[in-house]
Amino acid sequence: MADRAAPRSLRPPRPVLDIAETLEAAGFETWCVGGAVRDALLGHPHLDWDLATSATPAQVRGLFGARRTIPVGIEFGTVGVLDPDRTMHEVTTFRRDVRTDGRHAEVEFGVSLDDDLARRDFTINAIAYSPRRELLHDPFGGRADLERRVVRAVGEPAARMREDRLRALRAIRFASRFGFEIDPPTWTAIVDSAPHLARLSPERVKQELEKTMEQVARPSVAIGRWREAGALHELVPALDEAGAEALRSLDCLAQPGPANRPNRRIHRMAGLFGDLPAARLGAALTALRCSRMEITWIQALVERWQRLGPPIAGALAASAPIDDAQVRRWVAGIGRLHLPGFFRLASARWAARREQGRAPGARDVRALYRRALRCAFRDPVDLRDLAIDGDDLRRAGIPAGPEMGRVLQALLDWVLDDPARNTPAVLGERAAALHADARGSRG
Ligand code: ATP
Ligand code: MG
Repeated sequence: MADRAAPRSLRPPRPVLDIAETLEAAGFETWCVGGAVRDALLGHPHLDWDLATSATPAQVRGLFGARRTIPVGIEFGTVGVLDPDRTMHEVTTFRRDVRTDGRHAEVEFGVSLDDDLARRDFTINAIAYSPRRELLHDPFGGRADLERRVVRAVGEPAARMREDRLRALRAIRFASRFGFEIDPPTWTAIVDSAPHLARLSPERVKQELEKTMEQVARPSVAIGRWREAGALHELVPALDEAGAEALRSLDCLAQPGPANRPNRRIHRMAGLFGDLPAARLGAALTALRCSRMEITWIQALVERWQRLGPPIAGALAASAPIDDAQVRRWVAGIGRLHLPGFFRLASARWAARREQGRAPGARDVRALYRRALRCAFRDPVDLRDLAIDGDDLRRAGIPAGPEMGRVLQALLDWVLDDPARNTPAVLGERAAALHADARGSRG
């Protein structure tokens, strides 16, 4: 296929152009490749412009010097080159995969741009742009596929999936991200891949799932394709029964722009796993190699959603007004820390549920969230907010231990009904009475 003039949307940033120019001036052919070219042709912004070059890693290091280069993946031919702002750009030597086992590849340098493009996964990811000549090199028809809006494997789909099983998941992610279809022979190869996906390490599966949660506006489509292909059952069997509400809630947890990505990811994970009982939830997240912190956070959100979602939905559905004491009790049950996450999750779940039937209305949920925030800022809703603490109780003769815990919890419940009760004198008196009652009933 003849090289074609590039459209105006292809404008790599200045530092990338400078690096390419330096390489070209030294006699090394250099092209922009991969996701940035694809995204620029789609009119989407893309931050990481990767370069592919005929220079070997040693030549790249020699040209830019040790202080401007970082050997980020030397064995795969990748050198990071720093621009004057100390931003790193990846420069990778043209390479070919000589041996693969479905997970790892052994690579060879000293090959052509065409060899390098041929080892890429999908045609839309195998378009090269020469900044020097302002030309596109597109031997596999990637631009036509961008226009047709399809994800299609480079070369023979079954063979490409066998080389690297991750490609099955990548195809689904790219298709869902761009609203593309998957070319039928490529789809067939993905379905045939499913029984072999267990070979992928949990870390790579988790990474794909996370990228899906971060990049895709409608993850329900992606997870639906995982399921349809058989990948979901193979990789995350705990989600076999995940229903339409769980999946659609992910789409309702969208946020425009790249901001807040870690939050979006974690909220979407909570939405996805939100119906699992606690024991299976912990096991599923552990199997995916989620970090302790991620597991704790997702478990906390899911536990609160399962415990408080139903009564809150019930109260919102009833025509009776909800009093402040009730709102404070919910806030206490959720905790200040988890209040925003809980309401994001609950709003998304209810939005998804509204598509199938009855659920609290968006305006009512928003109004309740505003009230909950006001309570959280203004009122005592936590044991630590009480006007007396354990030391005070000990001085009043209440022994530390379970009895004290019980008294403190009873005081909080009492204060949630009426925050005006939260003074040392009033609580001291109440604590003494509670303690006396307890001793009386024991004996
Ligand atoms: P993203 O926006 O998700 O980063 P990307 O296209 O840049 O999308 P990367 O994973 O960063 O994806 O990979 C960069 C390029 O490397 C891809 O565009 C593709 O050409 C090639 N590539 C990456 N992973 C594979 C793979 N598993 N098999 C073949 N080629 C791959
Ligand atoms: Mg990338």
